[in-house]
Amino acid sequence: MNGTAVPDSRGLNLFRADPALAGLAALYLPSDLYRQLEPHLDRLGALAGGRLDTLAGQADRNPPVLHVRSRSGEDGDWIEKHPAYRSMEELAFGAFGLAALSHRGGVLGWPTPMPPAAKYLLTYLFVQAEFGLMCPVSMTDSLTRTLRKFGAPALVARYLPALTSQDLDALSQGAMFMTEQGAGSDVGATAVRALPAEDGTWRLHGDKWFCSNADAGLAMVLARPDDAPPGLQGLNLFLLPRVLPDGRRNAYRIVRLKDKLGTRSMASGEISLQGATAYLVGEQGAGFRQMADMINNSRLSNGVRAAGLMRRAVTEALFVAHRRVAFGRRLVELPLMRRQLLKILVRAEQARSMMLQTADVLRRSDAGEPGAYALLRILTPLIKFRACRDARVVAGDAMEVRGGCGYIEEWPDPRILRDSHLGSIWEGTSNIVALDVRRAARRENALAALRAHVSALLREAPPLANAAAAMERACALMDASQADGGEVLARQAASALYHVTSAASMAWEAGRLQDPGRLALAHMVLVHRVLPRDPLDGQGDADFAADRLLYDPGKVSEAAADRM
Ligand SMILES: Cc1cc2nc3c(=O)[nH]c(=O)nc-3n(C[C@H](O)[C@H](O)[C@H](O)COP(=O)(O)OP(=O)(O)OC[C@H]3O[C@@H](n4cnc5c(N)ncnc54)[C@H](O)[C@@H]3O)c2cc1C
Repeated sequence: MNGTAVPDSRGLNLFRADPALAGLAALYLPSDLYRQLEPHLDRLGALAGGRLDTLAGQADRNPPVLHVRSRSGEDGDWIEKHPAYRSMEELAFGAFGLAALSHRGGVLGWPTPMPPAAKYLLTYLFVQAEFGLMCPVSMTDSLTRTLRKFGAPALVARYLPALTSQDLDALSQGAMFMTEQGAGSDVGATAVRALPAEDGTWRLHGDKWFCSNADAGLAMVLARPDDAPPGLQGLNLFLLPRVLPDGRRNAYRIVRLKDKLGTRSMASGEISLQGATAYLVGEQGAGFRQMADMINNSRLSNGVRAAGLMRRAVTEALFVAHRRVAFGRRLVELPLMRRQLLKILVRAEQARSMMLQTADVLRRSDAGEPGAYALLRILTPLIKFRACRDARVVAGDAMEVRGGCGYIEEWPDPRILRDSHLGSIWEGTSNIVALDVRRAARRENALAALRAHVSALLREAPPLANAAAAMERACALMDASQADGGEVLARQAASALYHVTSAASMAWEAGRLQDPGRLALAHMVLVHRVLPRDPLDGQGDADFAADRLLYDPGKVSEAAADRM
């Protein structure tokens, strides 16, 4: 046996294997930036399907180890990371500057900070190989953003160069220590104490229960002064350095690392704060409001990562389906398999369109465009909520396409499946994030902003039957969720808004890109995820026949290589 019966996608360029990606990137990026980035996307696509994927597998099988004492008996915790993880850090923070490119020019040859769409497109490719490391990358980027927004100028000046360095020896990575044993979703129950010191800094005491990137150089921490009121309004935001300006280690210990289902390459720990020195960020009592900026940025990044995971799962499934033979036919020719493939493709494409739309609205919001913040405020939890949930389903169904091999750890599917389950838990569970969509709709007038946005997309798109009416019904459902006793509708309403918004976005893109296949996908979103259907009508899924959508990633990749 020479193994040809078992198709292996190793070495596929994941940028080239994705026929829609280049066109979408060119649509959402300014043309000169796209021209600059295209070779980098191509290089990252090759890495993600090759060396980076191999490194990710190694790092996954060799998780970090916490050491708490030196061999000569000196106390002092440090985390030993596998060389494969270090190599991935070199690529993410170093070569591709993913945590720096939003904050300064000079990354990937571009003279100014890049817009969010550029960062998310690169992240989207990177995460197709490695999910765990993308958490530290995102937290470093998000911490930098929040520090620049709210931190005192001297604090920003002290730490910004290290946070945005591409030299790993000079780099300070970021983290977020918020969750406590008694305060997860209910952040207002935070009990870590903050005591003012004479020199104007603060001392933190207590335990943080989930601390990803536990040995980061800098962390944002929520804590409560003794005289502060209970609840969210009593919380301050602090910047916690791992090493003090005089070179001493700060007074906190990593007590334990978590043994996790996924993201095994990356260290998540428990931290005991023992009078650790910290700097107040922004105003007293505004800690949660300011931290929300970092959380929202991380939530958006989570949605992007879910989109990337789904894309990898789809690429693998399509690749296998075009090569694996059963009953004398390739899997992709079998009606039920075609249906299965299209169902996962639809979810992956929805998330990708939502990612690009939200990235563009973030750019507009940061530029101060009127109304953009309200729109961003609802799009962010929408993608975090629904894309992360969809990633679980897509990862599981794509695994099944590979058959028994999909369940075996030497293939990428198990890692994708394990990683895909985290998105819906951290940075807010599904319930919490759906409630946040509802809160945004109520408080920030974001529902009106979303309704106007979807109308504008549909006006500029080729006709998409039933979309406008579906949006009205989705908005009505969200309104109903605001009534007394309506909370229970929050998830259904958020899902409906996500589906219609993604369908409208895909239709808009289809018009811009002259791509009827994308319009067909938009139509499928409405038919299969929003509109009422009779499952017993015997019609089946007639439109689950769209040939051109079930392309062969291997052939696309070869054709793209010929063009380059
Ligand atoms: C691998 C990993 C890494 C993490 N890294 C970090 C990190 O770096 N920094 C950090 O601060 N935290 C981190 N977390 C913590 C994570 O954000 C929390 O676990 C999460 O927010 C949930 O909090 P909890 O675990 O206390 O669960 P709980 O808040 O106790 O929730 C339990 C269940 O109750 C539900 N629930 C709670 N409130 C409501 C409500 N009002 N209505 C309906 N249902 C509700 C939730 O949806 C959930 O299903 C990490 C977690 C994991 C698993």
